[in-house]
Amino acid sequence: MIINSNKSQILDFLVDAANVKGDCDAVYFPKTAQEISEILIEANKKKTKVTIAGNGTGLTGGRVPQSGIVISMAKFNDFEIDESRKIAKVEAGVLLSEIKSKVEEKNLFYPPDPTENNCFLGGTIATNASGAKSFKYGPTRNFINSIEIVLPNGEIHKISRGEIFAVDGMLKIGDFQIKLPKIQMPKVKHAAGFYIKKDMDLIDLFIGSEGTLGIITEAEIRLIEKPENYFSAVLFFDDEVKSLEFVAEVREKSIRNRNFDDEINALAIEYFDFFALQFLKIEFPKIKNHHKAAVWVEQEINSANEEILTEKWLEIIEHFEADIENSWIATDAKTRREFQDFRHAVSWKISEYITRKNFRKVGTDTAVPNDKFVEFYNYSRSLVESQNIHFVAYGHFGNSHLHLNMLPENEVEFTKSKEIYKQICQKAVDFGGTISAEHGVGKLKREYFELMFSDEEIREMAKIKKLLDKNLILNFGNIFSERFFN
Ligand SMILES: Cc1cc2nc3c(=O)[nH]c(=O)nc-3n(C[C@H](O)[C@H](O)[C@H](O)COP(=O)(O)OP(=O)(O)OC[C@H]3O[C@@H](n4cnc5c(N)ncnc54)[C@H](O)[C@@H]3O)c2cc1C
Repeated sequence: MIINSNKSQILDFLVDAANVKGDCDAVYFPKTAQEISEILIEANKKKTKVTIAGNGTGLTGGRVPQSGIVISMAKFNDFEIDESRKIAKVEAGVLLSEIKSKVEEKNLFYPPDPTENNCFLGGTIATNASGAKSFKYGPTRNFINSIEIVLPNGEIHKISRGEIFAVDGMLKIGDFQIKLPKIQMPKVKHAAGFYIKKDMDLIDLFIGSEGTLGIITEAEIRLIEKPENYFSAVLFFDDEVKSLEFVAEVREKSIRNRNFDDEINALAIEYFDFFALQFLKIEFPKIKNHHKAAVWVEQEINSANEEILTEKWLEIIEHFEADIENSWIATDAKTRREFQDFRHAVSWKISEYITRKNFRKVGTDTAVPNDKFVEFYNYSRSLVESQNIHFVAYGHFGNSHLHLNMLPENEVEFTKSKEIYKQICQKAVDFGGTISAEHGVGKLKREYFELMFSDEEIREMAKIKKLLDKNLILNFGNIFSERFFN
């Protein structure tokens, strides 16, 4: 096994896409679950902290070590597709971009799409990643049939969906009896803390646990048939209110029409505010100055419903007065890919901006119930505007999920931005929403996680961590502040 302790060669493992920075003694590159097990057994003996590294696209500092060693999943590259059963067995270090292209060659499709495809499958399972398409398909969890996981004590387990469920508030894995906390999860897209539900499936405890409960080495993923074609359009609006009304109408129609093939039934509703458009103008000069907002919508179509659906989309687009003449409607796969690049560019440029300014990302990942969304959005924006901080707002508005990214120019603005961020998180919680809909808590959002759940509830979750990881070696510092283990 390769072990690299040359600091100048492991710098990439000491940072993530949120520009959180850390330190470690060495990076290990195992190739098998057995090798990981041996590393963990040794680490327990020496009480060495172990941090798991996917491909570093995370946005919460989750993979950034504070000390000890890092286990890179980069050598877990095996990949097998079973076309007839529409599944694939994929090791944790396979890139999402590779999964997508390989399954599409077989006319199959893997829906989870966290905008950034340069991540490893294991990272997406550990964070239960979502993205644009989760409006229709839900998060990564919905496509994971089974996982192989190495527990912090070195035990290797295969967990298949549908095999082990909680009974009387207890879950069992190996000799461990896990007591589930009595927690009410918000009824919105949510990725903060452990997934806890009465009668839950064991696999769901590990999906989204941000590497705090074990190391995922492999998964069986569920595939669906590749859609024949898409209606895909980036629509520009001169009136922001109309753009938000359009979002609300498409959202409502889509939820109502989930089972109908010839009705408006979007798979994604993505939003860009005026400042996001200005931020993207250099790379996308076709954006006009009078455009106050844009909405990217997509729906699967086929030769039978293409005509009727295009008609229905054009009708609703006209009704809400989008600038049709200057909007972009994809007629081929290449143009549709350009829309994906357009969406990716906004998140990517923010990561690039904060790295250049040497700040940590101050971008919300909040979701609220649909009926509270416009009020929440207006509240969040006016709060930032009142403090004269530059920002861009965009997000997965189908899921009432807002990424409002503040762009501080200096330390004073950075401090102010963090205060505003906390107020926005508090508002989301007050509205029955979440402080993190998809990125997770990691090390960056622990303070906000504590706005969502009481100390007692968090302590109950932390007990699960302590039960499985008695020496607190694995991904320590993620999700829980140290005080919850005292
Ligand atoms: C431009 C941009 C846009 C993004 N947009 C979205 C979006 O729309 N939706 C979304 O959900 N995310 C988004 N992300 C976040 C990111 O892509 C996801 O969080 C991704 O799933 C992380 O995968 P990774 O391999 O890079 O993991 P890393 O960043 O390396 O790690 C993430 C976390 O997972 C843990 N981990 C990694 N591998 C394993 C494993 N095998 N077993 C156990 N724990 C593990 C790490 O320790 C860490 O806590 C975006 C990121 C960028 C840079």
